[in-house]
Amino acid sequence: MRPENQPARRDFLKGLAALPAVSALAAEPAQPRFNAVQIGPVSLLDEGIDRCLDLLQDTAAINCLMLYSHTYYGDMHKPPQLLATDHGVAPKLMRDRKFPAVWVHTHEQFYKNTTLRHQVVDSTFEFANRDLLAEVLGPARKRGMKLYARILEGTGLGQTVANFSTITTRDIYGRSTNIPCWNHPDYKAWWTATAEDLFRSYELDGLQWGAERMGPLMNVICPWNNDPPACFCQHCEDRARNHGIDPGRARKGFEDLFLYVQSLASAKPPDGVFTGFLRVLLRYPEILSWEYQYRQAREEMQQAIFHAVKAVKTDAEVGWHVDHQPSSWDLVYRAEMTFAEMAPYSDFIKPILYHDVLGPRIRNWYLARFQRTILSEISLPQSLDLYYDLFGYDKTKEPTLDHLNTTGFSPDYVYRETKRSRASAENKTKIYSGIGFDVPWGNNTIPGDPDKIYECVRRAFDAGASGIVVSREYEEMRVPNLRAVGRAVRDLAAG
Ligand SMILES: [Zn+2]
Repeated sequence: MRPENQPARRDFLKGLAALPAVSALAAEPAQPRFNAVQIGPVSLLDEGIDRCLDLLQDTAAINCLMLYSHTYYGDMHKPPQLLATDHGVAPKLMRDRKFPAVWVHTHEQFYKNTTLRHQVVDSTFEFANRDLLAEVLGPARKRGMKLYARILEGTGLGQTVANFSTITTRDIYGRSTNIPCWNHPDYKAWWTATAEDLFRSYELDGLQWGAERMGPLMNVICPWNNDPPACFCQHCEDRARNHGIDPGRARKGFEDLFLYVQSLASAKPPDGVFTGFLRVLLRYPEILSWEYQYRQAREEMQQAIFHAVKAVKTDAEVGWHVDHQPSSWDLVYRAEMTFAEMAPYSDFIKPILYHDVLGPRIRNWYLARFQRTILSEISLPQSLDLYYDLFGYDKTKEPTLDHLNTTGFSPDYVYRETKRSRASAENKTKIYSGIGFDVPWGNNTIPGDPDKIYECVRRAFDAGASGIVVSREYEEMRVPNLRAVGRAVRDLAAG
């Protein structure tokens, strides 16, 4: 603007301020911040829908329910010591109850393009006569809460889904596993059918979908088990060939790498452990190409689900659960793709940022595992130091090695990881920070500290989060900690 125009503009603004309409606009309250909670069907049904929603609203100011529509994750029978006891209703024991994995009515007409079928919920299942997503809609609306379906692909699929064995991955030795293959057209069609069925049959505002599994490379170098790498099924091999990758060489490379890592338990190579790792990668760069295709296939599944929902309801929000390993210690996942690249099929991305349980997870699931594989040449304190630097966390604020098992990470971790996620998203998709507390480690709960939880929420929004998702499961969350979330959100709204 040219300087000579400024006085005129000032007069214009002064004039605007005098108009009553402008004053009214200024007084209008800001949109409430997105503040969702992850909740299981059993909580609502055991505690009572109205009672439970009142508690969530009064304590944590929740305005969106992320409610499991399907519970294939197989996390439904928690031991009693992991359940919060202060919700005003004594928790019912979960063991020895027969819960369904499907909490919605399934409609056969949507599943014509797939041979897979959801569990049939007969009268032998508890709650078989309930239709929770329909029942909860009115009570949620009455309280101004949105309703999102939530799905985690998981290990329960194999026991419950008809024809599941036809779509499983194959390992390097051609053996079938109990994990489904992203590249199998039947598997993809089953999820898109499920998404369409959900949004045609229920009035939903959104969907959060997730799958907690890592690519084949991380599964070798930071292993959850000793299973050989996968997937080398026909569909994956065809995909690779279409991208100019030789499946035979990729298979041989993964076998060499797998056997190399196994051999480290008994003998260290004279040229060095990390050198040996690089040697396999140099000889078989197909390993990296194969890993990248695995990730692409996963993203294509998400694209397909996104478009299946949008075809029914364009304004529904569809986004992804990014679990703890990819959010906070999987460099391969992080290197493969930015959140901005995922944005065309992501209304939001929810990275898990559970500050407390990250301590023991890094100690046991990152440091210990890498020490057994490719990072055995550096000490654990050095490895932790390297981890903090590579991930951009402040080592003066985060636990030292000796404290990882007992001390959680700081609210600064939530801030830094939210900020990093936002930068990765380049404003092309929203970041909902997953604030986690009272998350179990083994058979015990790490009890949350309300003051720290308050700070985590504040810091997530300071870093530019578009919202938060209170996690991990409502049934685990203690009331003082729910109140800490509500206090933070209300303080932020008050400015
Ligand atoms: Zn496959």
